[in-house]
This record gives sequence, structure tokens and C-alpha cells, in this order.
Amino acid sequence: MAEVTVVGAGVVGLTTALALREVGHRVRVLAAERPERTTSAVAGAVWYPFEVGPREKVNRWARTTRAWLLALSRAVPAAGVDVLTVLECASDSRPPWWSEAVEDLRCVDRPLPRGAPFAWEFEAPRVEPALHLPWLESQLDRPIEIARVERLEDVPGDLVVNCTGIGARRLAGDTTLSALLGQTVVVAPGEVDLRRMYGDERDLSAMFYVIPRRRELVIGGCALPFEGDVPPAADPGLRNAFLERARAAGFRHGPVLRDAVGLRPFRPEVRLERAGRVIHHYGHGGAGYTLAWGSANDVVALLGAGPGRRGG
Ligand SMILES: Cc1cc2nc3c(=O)[nH]c(=O)nc-3n(C[C@H](O)[C@H](O)[C@H](O)COP(=O)(O)OP(=O)(O)OC[C@H]3O[C@@H](n4cnc5c(N)ncnc54)[C@H](O)[C@@H]3O)c2cc1C
Repeated sequence: MAEVTVVGAGVVGLTTALALREVGHRVRVLAAERPERTTSAVAGAVWYPFEVGPREKVNRWARTTRAWLLALSRAVPAAGVDVLTVLECASDSRPPWWSEAVEDLRCVDRPLPRGAPFAWEFEAPRVEPALHLPWLESQLDRPIEIARVERLEDVPGDLVVNCTGIGARRLAGDTTLSALLGQTVVVAPGEVDLRRMYGDERDLSAMFYVIPRRRELVIGGCALPFEGDVPPAADPGLRNAFLERARAAGFRHGPVLRDAVGLRPFRPEVRLERAGRVIHHYGHGGAGYTLAWGSANDVVALLGAGPGRRGG
């Protein structure tokens, strides 16, 4: 049983802490910002492998995480996970690269919004960050400690897991990590069916999705290269473009509630490797919720299992 410090309190850090605790390690979480001030707090956040690699590992992690989230949706409603029917637009009927991660993928060629010739339909867990992050935190044995880490070598513990998202660019000196800016507009549901999600990423310059939550809808989105480490204010031009896409696709939503902006920590490949006392675990791009439990299990495997029980 090791004394492990997880640095970072987004979905990746908190899920890693939970997975480590479940096998009996003693875990503390240290973060510059509380969960509600992270990228994770502004995510959609639906299960869908987007802007992340490498594909083989992503498929494995996504499959494991999907099963874990589906089980959580049945067992713990307070964890903020529900199951939606997703309609994901496609240009042709070839199975998408992530098809191995889903058992129930169905090709649809009935008339679709935005003139899409095909779509893939499947059941996917959708997470409400405002419920899920506090639930993850509630599973910890100790409160999150708020402190900015300047050097990973100085962090206490037998082992340190670096889950700092875009913060790893500076903390680990990682020049292959870049920010992909995402913005969404959150609206009241209006007449939209809260059981179905719609996504169209065929053209990333005009991507569009509608993700229902329990009491609101998330309309997006974009994935734009961004230089800084701190998200900018919401761009009203982008908000209007998303709302126009929603109207044109026939979604009769309610009034605008707020904007949300965040920086996806993008890397050609998620970094999951051990360097001495440190395990790096970041770079989940547009898929932190989609992969967190699966990749956290690989962190557990790198440490070697302790004496406790394994969940999920
Ligand atoms: C608009 C938008 C929509 C998205 N939609 C989805 C979706 O539908 N599905 C999906 O799976 N993913 C989605 N994502 C992607 C997802 O949000 C990210 O992959 C995920 O949040 C990354 O989590 P993380 O824990 O690695 O990073 P973060 O959530 O950014 O957390 C990083 C943590 O590290 C801490 N930290 C950083 N630097 C330091 C330091 N030096 N010292 C101490 N602590 C530090 C921070 O304070 C924070 O606590 C979306 C993202 C955006 C922006």
C-alpha cells in the first residue's frame, strides 16, 4: 500500500484518486483549482472519443469507461450519469474508428438534420459535471488540498500522479501538449427531447452538438487551437453561430442560461507513463470523461495493486 499524491482535481485526477483508493492505496489530492473551476467543469460531458489518441488505447479505455459509467448510472443516481440515445452524423457508412468501443452501434440512413447522409445511433452515458465532480470528491478519504505545484519533485508521497491537464504544458515542460479551445452555450430545454443527443463533427469548422442534461441543454461547439493556459471570455460571435446552427437544424430550445469556455488538453497521444516517482496521466483532449476510468485503471496497474477491493 503506497502513499500516493494525485496532482489535479479535474475528472482525470479525481477518477484516478478513486481508482487508486479502491485498491487500497492511501491517496491525497492536491490541486491549484477546485473541481468546479477546471476544464472538466465546463465539459458536455457525453461519452464520445473526440480529439484524442492513440486509437488502440483510446478504444480500450473508452470501452472500460463506458461500462463503468453505465453501471454507475444504474447504481448511483447522485453521481450525475444518465444514458442518452446518441445520433452522431457521418459522411459515409464505414464504421467509425471508435466502433470497437461500442457494442450497440446502428447505422441510420433516414432523413437527418443538416442533410447528413448517415448517422450512427448508440446508447451513451452522459455525465453532469456539476453532480459528478462533487460525487467523485465525496468518495475521497481526505479533502482536496488547494496549492499550485511548481516542481513535481517537491510533491510529498511515495508516488505522484500528474493529472494537471493543460497545466502539464508548464509543469512537465511538455511542448507536445496544446490547448484546443471549446465553447458552448447552455440553454433551457424548450421542446427538445432530453433523452436524445445529436452530434455532427463531419466539418470541424462548423461542428455542432446538442447534449441534454437533466434540466438544461448544452449547445456547441468548436475545437480551436489556443496559445494560452487560461481560457478567454466567451465569444458572442461563436455563441450566435451555435444558436443559429441549432435553429437551422430544427431544435426548439428555451432561453439562453450561460456560456461555457474551456481548454481541452490535447496531445497526439495521452501521456500515461512512469518516470521515477512520478506517473504522468494527462492529455485526454476532448475525451476526459470518455476515458477517465479506463486510463485510471492503467495507472493502478503501473503502481501494482494494493490489498483493497476492485470496483466497476
Ligand atoms: C467545451 C468542452 C466540451 C467538452 N465535452 C466533452 C465531452 O462531451 N466528453 C468528454 O469526454 N470530454 C469533453 N471535453 C473534454 C474534457 O473536458 C477534458 O478532456 C477533461 O476535462 C480533462 O480533464 P483533466 O482532469 O485532465 O483536466 P482539468 O479538468 O483541466 O483539471 C486539471 C487539474 O489540474 C490542476 N492543475 C493544473 N496545473 C497545476 C499545478 N501546477 N499545480 C497543481 N494543480 C494544477 C488544475 O487546477 C485542475 O484541478 C470537453 C471540453 C470542453 C472544453
